[in-house]
Amino acid sequence: MTALIGALPDPIMLLDAHGLVASANGKARDLLNMDPEGQHISSAIRAPAILEAVQAVLEHGGTRRVDYEQHVPLQRHFEAYVAAMAEPEQMILILLRDLTREQQTERLRADFVAHASHELRTPLASLLGFIETLQGAAKKDEVSRERFLALMQTQAERMKRLIDDLLSLSRIEMNAHLRPTGTTDLKQIAFHVRDTLSGLAKAAGVEIKIDNKEPLVVQGDWDELVQVVQNLIENAIKYAASGKAIEISGRRLGEDCELTVRDFGPGIAEEHLPRLTERFYRINVQESRQRGGTGLGLAIVKHILNRHRGKMRIQSELGAGSSFTVRIPAVSHEAK
Ligand code: ADP
Repeated sequence: MTALIGALPDPIMLLDAHGLVASANGKARDLLNMDPEGQHISSAIRAPAILEAVQAVLEHGGTRRVDYEQHVPLQRHFEAYVAAMAEPEQMILILLRDLTREQQTERLRADFVAHASHELRTPLASLLGFIETLQGAAKKDEVSRERFLALMQTQAERMKRLIDDLLSLSRIEMNAHLRPTGTTDLKQIAFHVRDTLSGLAKAAGVEIKIDNKEPLVVQGDWDELVQVVQNLIENAIKYAASGKAIEISGRRLGEDCELTVRDFGPGIAEEHLPRLTERFYRINVQESRQRGGTGLGLAIVKHILNRHRGKMRIQSELGAGSSFTVRIPAVSHEAK
């Protein structure tokens, strides 16, 4: 029995008919930070709900499930499963299932849904407001009508961008466990994205320079890596262009390839850097919205890089600009 519970991954204790701990596995000793063997369950675990469940099972047999929270050293939430055992008779099993991770994931998911709904509700509320005005006060006013229709278009486009980004994120997450199989050259991607964004760059009065000659072939998906580079260059144009240059450089570094998008804009204060890839995190929500941002661009970049076993490094200095470097494993010569 001791060997069996020792091999199981959850904290487990066996109690005798008096409530004394007859056996505890390593996970239980770690959790309680002591060896409870020989002690009464009430001194091993100070949780009234578990003690009541043990008492009830001792008296009436059967099983009970109760919640157990641990606050020190970390906040953890367990479900305690207390069961009378048929063999050896009158023994009781206590198994603790750690639900902390599951609950955190559930909370993150709920937060995300709340956040996404809120982001969609804002333009929707404004659209409804304009529709009401067009049906009422501005019904016969042609000048106002044109103006309102243009504003409605802006709001509808914002909703569309948000939905596109949300769908993108969910598609990437769905494939997160599948490593991309194609081979893609990051240098070609840089040139391709520069062409795609040439109109936007021109409008912002910014020149995109690429100083890389050698191919940077990685194991990766063309469309997804285009999205990565496009998001980074778009951000540089949106937040940091104002007539300056954007420099793209690449290099082979050991087993990896790196591509850097550097701008000479206002830079990003250090406290924001670790949070930039969180969904909906923006330094200035108003500015991001005005420039057509959704707050999901860098979260999408991070997820795509995770799938590619890659990483992103952000360096920035206030007043001097920022550089976003992505690093992805190169295709080895044998695999090419
Ligand atoms: P958004 O859709 O708002 O652009 P991102 O996830 O792409 O969302 O970026 C998150 C935030 O990071 C932006 O709102 C902006 O505040 C900041 N940011 C991103 N790139 C740059 C940059 N090159 N220079 C300054 N700030 C940046």
